[in-house]
Amino acid sequence: MKHSKPLNFTLIGRSGSGKGTQAKLLIERFGNLFYVYTGDLFRDLAKANTDTGKRIKKIIKEGGLPFDELATTLWMYKIAYNVKENQGILFDGSPRRLDEAKVIDEFMEFLERKENTYNILLDISREEAFNRLIKRRICKKCERLIPWVGEFKKLKVCDKCGGELITRPDDSSKAINNRLDFYDKRVTEVVDYYKKQNRLIEINGEQSIEDVFQDILKAIR
Ligand SMILES: [Zn+2]
Repeated sequence: MKHSKPLNFTLIGRSGSGKGTQAKLLIERFGNLFYVYTGDLFRDLAKANTDTGKRIKKIIKEGGLPFDELATTLWMYKIAYNVKENQGILFDGSPRRLDEAKVIDEFMEFLERKENTYNILLDISREEAFNRLIKRRICKKCERLIPWVGEFKKLKVCDKCGGELITRPDDSSKAINNRLDFYDKRVTEVVDYYKKQNRLIEINGEQSIEDVFQDILKAIR
């Protein structure tokens, strides 16, 4: 591991595999990481009073995805205008497609960061993912998302504000299966691409949050 350049991460895995949770832990541990999450970029774009912004707003509301290159363009722009030399980059949930994996490689190569980029797969089965997503809850009051793992399963009300816990409207079994189908069709190509080049860190995502994080730290040491 080169210490002259900051560490960079891509976190991939099925919906419900705990990418967001592990991303937070990595940021706490390594501090200076620029967080890239396509969902946030689209939500920002949806606020723009532009032709593209309005179309994205509609797509977010009705479900579905825009054309492939838009996500790539948005995060490239963000990184190009924001990331300092001493700052790492953390991709939460990207790459989601083979072409996106190749663009991330090219960009990291350009920034001389490819060697210091860890591609981490949080591996959970489709069945486990479905179970976690169908059972996870959201606080009606503060919108905190309560995952269906470990101690969280026991919560009757929100552990932050005491609010009522309800199922998320976009966590219907049809919507969940759509997301999991996308993973099986497109993201598995990314997994194979990294595997073939011996550049994938595979972590058993069906452990406790703490054990998953410890395995990540061991793998990048
Ligand atoms: Zn709450």
